[in-house]
Amino acid sequence: MCAQINHKSPGCLLTEFQNLRPALFLDRDGVINAEKNYVHCAEDFEFIDGIFDLCRAAAGRCMPIVVVTNQAGIGRGYYSEVQFETLTDWMRGVFAAEGVPVAAVYFCPYHPEHGVGEYRKESFDRKPHPGMILRARDDLGLDLRSSVLIGDKSSDIAAAKSAGVGLTLRLGHDDAPPAPDFVVGSLNEALDLLSQRNWR
Ligand SMILES: [Mg+2]
Repeated sequence: MCAQINHKSPGCLLTEFQNLRPALFLDRDGVINAEKNYVHCAEDFEFIDGIFDLCRAAAGRCMPIVVVTNQAGIGRGYYSEVQFETLTDWMRGVFAAEGVPVAAVYFCPYHPEHGVGEYRKESFDRKPHPGMILRARDDLGLDLRSSVLIGDKSSDIAAAKSAGVGLTLRLGHDDAPPAPDFVVGSLNEALDLLSQRNWR
């Protein structure tokens, strides 16, 4: 069961009062599915080991799962928004079947240099900018300070820090700044670490 009220800390009381909840933010490529460069069909979508256990643990803490993903492959013309949405529907179906619905998926199709036509532009949504995370905060009523983001790129970490996400984990070897709070070698390691810290 999900406990909405937690009197252990002033932060929790504030969260309760404002009816805000923490979320688990996930990058997609390299966190949910193996990075294979511009994945856009289910046949190439290989779930990373541990993703469903991690998300079930978050859901058990009443933390919605929110995906924030740069999808410049759309802007570059490699695949369409319709193809992305079809793949997203399929991915969400798999998550639901695994017992953990994805609350929301935010994507940014733009690229400032390589976008084609209307897709060639700067966007506040494109990580390292925080636009997608801030929109999720407003759409879903999230407390970013008690939220967690897991990414595989420095741009994920930068977006999270810029938005004020309280805890950042990087999976993999992108050593460019900014540094995350923790580097993990697997999603199972991420789950262990978060569980030990009580997800804060
Ligand atoms: Mg990634």
